[in-house]
Amino acid sequence: MTEIAHYIGNSRVEGMSGRSQPVFNPATGSSDKTVALASPEEVNAAVAAARDAWPAWAATPALRRARILDRFKTLLWERADELARAISAEHGKTHDDARGEVTRGLEVVEFAVGAPTHLKGEFSQNVGTDVDCYSIRQPLGVVAGISPFNFPAMVPMWMFPVALACGNTFVLKPSERDPSASLLLAEWLAEAGLPAGVFNVVQGDKVAVDALLDHPDVRAISFVGSTPIAQYIHQRGIANGKRVQALGGAKNHAVIMPDADLDMAANALMGAAFGSAGERCMAVSVAVPVTDAVADALIEKLVPRIRALKIGPSTDSGAEMGPIVTEQARDRIRGYIDSAEAQGASIVVDGRTFRQDRQGYENGYFIGGTLIDNVTTDMTVWQEEIFGPVLSVVRRESYHDAVGLIGECPYANGTVIFTRDGDTARLFAQDIEVGMVGVNVPVPVPMAFHSFGGWKASIFGDYAVHGMEGIRFYTRIKTTTQRWPTGHRNEPDFAMPTHG
Ligand code: NAD
Repeated sequence: MTEIAHYIGNSRVEGMSGRSQPVFNPATGSSDKTVALASPEEVNAAVAAARDAWPAWAATPALRRARILDRFKTLLWERADELARAISAEHGKTHDDARGEVTRGLEVVEFAVGAPTHLKGEFSQNVGTDVDCYSIRQPLGVVAGISPFNFPAMVPMWMFPVALACGNTFVLKPSERDPSASLLLAEWLAEAGLPAGVFNVVQGDKVAVDALLDHPDVRAISFVGSTPIAQYIHQRGIANGKRVQALGGAKNHAVIMPDADLDMAANALMGAAFGSAGERCMAVSVAVPVTDAVADALIEKLVPRIRALKIGPSTDSGAEMGPIVTEQARDRIRGYIDSAEAQGASIVVDGRTFRQDRQGYENGYFIGGTLIDNVTTDMTVWQEEIFGPVLSVVRRESYHDAVGLIGECPYANGTVIFTRDGDTARLFAQDIEVGMVGVNVPVPVPMAFHSFGGWKASIFGDYAVHGMEGIRFYTRIKTTTQRWPTGHRNEPDFAMPTHG
């Protein structure tokens, strides 16, 4: 058994808490490693390293910080396959999907390399006679990131490249289910020239998270995970005076209008619902065909595609979908399908019957793609996030009914409309109460130079991640008003200063 360690001050540091838990390969159901679970003292050590490194890092010219990230970006390009393999071995996603995750994370590094442009201040000359005024953005100090299992490389890279580029130092608490990617990222940052203590990793669970939330030297918390935990992180973090961005769960609806290209919609839904086994916060989990005729035609196209899904381990280059991350998560997904059946929905394709018979993978946490028709809003499968390869069909008779359904949903991360009508698409993009919208684009994840974040129960806090929102989150503004003695009327003035 090898133990996955912490990373503090540019070195791997063995866990000393005496607590650890196994890390599984979801494709085989076996485990040959454990992950250390940090004690509050170990968290304190990581925060202390970050605090000590902060003054010098904050004082490093932004361009020099960016150059280190640029070297890190080159290492990521060169080693993307290695990182993708490490992700797949613990998460289960296919190699291509893991490569895609690495690329989307890398794009945030590319954005962060350009941060000096975004850190430029504002200057106003002569706001009063011989008085100038300027605003600058300064880093916050030590900031922490807490990430979910489903993107063990990309989600941390939504956070730390921007935080570091802005002059903060960072403590990452990755998911304990797939922790290895975090150590590769840490070591490659050090290899790129990042000074010791600027980026640290503490492995762990709630104990480590709470220690970060309560630590007075941690100025800001970025969190991505499920809604109940996001809400908890936000409340505890702000109660402790921290800046918090906490992104939560999702239930993303795809509206399919009668004028849509149905083949395009069906193919798009396959990737959006079953890619990464549905374990994406931007996965489409509800199809909303407008009219029964559209629903029937769409289902006819989806059924053979779902039955033909190639489900296998990430080492199989032909696999389109891998296993679920843990046995418990797989059983929870099965439970949702049971509940839909019991509540009167029609199970059109039943993933519960899937058996992986490849030698060596019989005990993996596999489940087949599932299609459920006639789902209604009183059913658990519509009300809760399933986070698995399950597509529910909620039939609607009009565009307005479809939009109303999305409005009823407490989650508001992403949504998509399939239509050929520009008028409908524009209305949808304008009116829908959801943070990220696709028009014939099934997984509308914004590029790194835009910002990622949902609305309603999909986010707590005021800032989305990366892009300009990321720059704003990781900096605070300071405005200086200055006067120089030349020509200054040298008398006391007791009225409120004005430009006159
Ligand atoms: P999770 O909420 O269980 O865990 C996320 C992080 O919180 C992990 O690091 C975990 O160790 C920690 N954590 C778990 N329980 C905790 C507790 N009681 N107290 C303190 N910390 C705790 O989420 P997950 O299962 O790892 O990830 C899947 C979830 O993340 C889904 O709900 C998915 O929608 C969501 N997600 C959202 C986005 C987004 O951008 N909105 C992106 C990716 C994933």
